[in-house]
Amino acid sequence: MASFGYGIASLRDHAESLGVRFCRHSDSCGITIFGWCAEQLGRLRWCRGWRRWRTTFWITIGRTIYHPDVIVDAVTASPVQVRHELVHVERQLATGVLWWLSRYVISWRFRFREEALAYLIDIRAGTPMLHVIRRLQTDYRIRHTTKMMSEWFADHLAREDDSR
Ligand SMILES: [Zn+2]
Repeated sequence: MASFGYGIASLRDHAESLGVRFCRHSDSCGITIFGWCAEQLGRLRWCRGWRRWRTTFWITIGRTIYHPDVIVDAVTASPVQVRHELVHVERQLATGVLWWLSRYVISWRFRFREEALAYLIDIRAGTPMLHVIRRLQTDYRIRHTTKMMSEWFADHLAREDDSR
């Protein structure tokens, strides 16, 4: 996939400059257990997106990016996803990892802001905005309306265009 003026080499440099470490889910007992629990919850109707948590979800904690075990080289395999996770790394480091993670778990409004900033990257790379919004509403349990989120994304995408 093209990464629009931001090649694999510079993405690798960017990750390295932040001191990022890539790990498989199974490299961490905590993530493995969390993933198993998430998939059990995924059997319920209200969080079906979690059914394939272990093969689809990425999770960033501080400078560590955990990716599904099937991925060998994260940067080459999923450059857009890595750029998304780097947004989380930068914001967690800027605000304090524990503070960020607690807010992220407790507040869906905070979760929306943080994910929306990261998902701007996915949308710019071609993921349809409505697909992102549905995912935020289901997998991330965000309660904003589709209209509100569409406006947020349209507004921020326009601002990025202006700044170029
Ligand atoms: Zn994210």
